[in-house]
Amino acid sequence: MKLESFRAWIRQIYATRDDELTCNDVFELIPKYVDTEVAGDNPVERFPKVAHHLDQCSRCHDLYAGVLEAAELEEREQPETVAAPSVEA
Ligand SMILES: [Zn+2]
Repeated sequence: MKLESFRAWIRQIYATRDDELTCNDVFELIPKYVDTEVAGDNPVERFPKVAHHLDQCSRCHDLYAGVLEAAELEEREQPETVAAPSVEA
């Protein structure tokens, strides 16, 4: 392989990677992604790159699933009306 084409090849690899998020980027975006989802918005539309990464990376997908589960639990456990003991009767 000629050095020039080798360089072009490397550049191409990095060019593709540049467009994709790293796991670290995704880790940072997962809370926002989950917030969006829990709020009833479409996170795939707002964070297409994150969605794409989650599709391909089981490590990040596991984290996402855990955060989503925790967020949904929190939603459900919001203090509805704290059943105050009735003083009547
Ligand atoms: Zn990842």
